[in-house]
Amino acid sequence: MGGSIPPIIFRLFIDKKKNFIIFIIIIIIINCTMQLLYIFFLLFNFDLLSANEINLFTTRHYESDNNLYKIFEKETGIKVNVISGKSKPLEKRILEEDKDCIGDVFFLADAGRLASAEKKKVFQKINSRVLKQTIPKQFRNDYWFGLTKRARIFYYNPKRIMEEEIEGLSYEDLARKKWKNRVVIRQSNNVYNQSLVSSLIEINGEKETRKWLKGFVNNFARDPQGNDRAQILAVAAGEADIAIANTYYYALMLSGKKGASQKKAAQKVKPFFPNQNNRGTHMNISGAGILRFSPNKDNAIKFLEFLISPVAQTHLSNNTFEYPMLENIKINELIKKIGINFKQDNSISVSSYGKWQKKSFMLMKEAGWN
Ligand code: FE
Repeated sequence: MGGSIPPIIFRLFIDKKKNFIIFIIIIIIINCTMQLLYIFFLLFNFDLLSANEINLFTTRHYESDNNLYKIFEKETGIKVNVISGKSKPLEKRILEEDKDCIGDVFFLADAGRLASAEKKKVFQKINSRVLKQTIPKQFRNDYWFGLTKRARIFYYNPKRIMEEEIEGLSYEDLARKKWKNRVVIRQSNNVYNQSLVSSLIEINGEKETRKWLKGFVNNFARDPQGNDRAQILAVAAGEADIAIANTYYYALMLSGKKGASQKKAAQKVKPFFPNQNNRGTHMNISGAGILRFSPNKDNAIKFLEFLISPVAQTHLSNNTFEYPMLENIKINELIKKIGINFKQDNSISVSSYGKWQKKSFMLMKEAGWN
C-alpha cells in the first residue's frame, strides 16, 4: 500500500502537466487562427471597410473645379464629396471636430492661409514622390502643396503713364513721392496683401518694410475698398493710375465672364509685371494639404496627385486663369496675352508668408492702411 500512493500522485501530476500543455497548444492554435483570419479579412475586405470616397473641404468658389473633380471620379472610381465654405469657418469646424472630422483634404487660396492652418496643426505630413518631384520646392512644404500659381501685379492706365515711365518699376518703387495719390489696392485685412507685405519683410526686413509702408500708404488715391477687380475698374475709370491685383481677376474681366462693361474696362488698362530687373514678381499659390485625422488618406493622396497631373493643370488654368504649377502644358490664350515669360520671384519660399502674416498686418495697420 505504502508503495502505491506515490505512482498515483505521479500520474496525476503527469496528467495535469499533459492537460496544461494541451490547453496551451489549443490557445496557440486559436490565437494563430484568429490572426490569420484577421490578416485574410484585411487583405480581401479592405475596400469594403473603407468607403471609396474623399471629403474635400475647399474655399475655392469656382464651379469649374467641380467639373474637374468629376474627371477624377471617372478615372479612379473615388467619389469626391465637396464641402465648400470660407477659410475661417471651415478651419474652425476642422479644429472643433478634431478626431471626428470627416474631412480628408483642405484646399485653400493663398500660402498665408495654408501656413496659418498648418500652425494650428490641422494637416499631417505627406510623403508623396509625385508631389515632391512635380511641385517646385518654393511652392510647397511637408504639409501642403501648391497646385496653382498666382501673380500679384500692377495695372496701369496707358493714357496717364508712359511705357518708358513704368519700365523696371518695382513694388518698392511705389513708395516714392512720384506716385502720390495714384495707387489703388484693397484693404489690409485681405490675405493677398498680407502675403505681399510678408514677402517684403522676408526680403527687405521689418525696418525697411515699415518705412516702405509709410510711403506706399501715403500714395493711395483713395481709402482701400472693394475686391481686386474694383481696383482695376478704378484705374480704367481714371480714379487712379496704378492698381495692384492678381492676374486671374484681370483675365476673368477680359474673358467677358464678368459682363461687357468689366471687359471694356479691362481693355483700357495694361498689365505690368513688377521687379523684372531684380528678383521677379511676387508669386502666391492656391494649394491643399491632407487633414490630420483624414479617414481616407490613400484616396486623398491620389486626389492631390491627380490635381498636379497635366489634365488637371490644364483644366485649372483654362477655367480660373491661374498659372499652372506644371511647366510645359498648353496655356490659355488669355493668360498668354497677359504674360507668361516674366521673371517670377523664386528667391523665397511662399511658406515665409505665413511666418510674417501677423507682423505684416500689424505694420499695415500702423501705417494707416485700413
Ligand atoms: Fe482670389
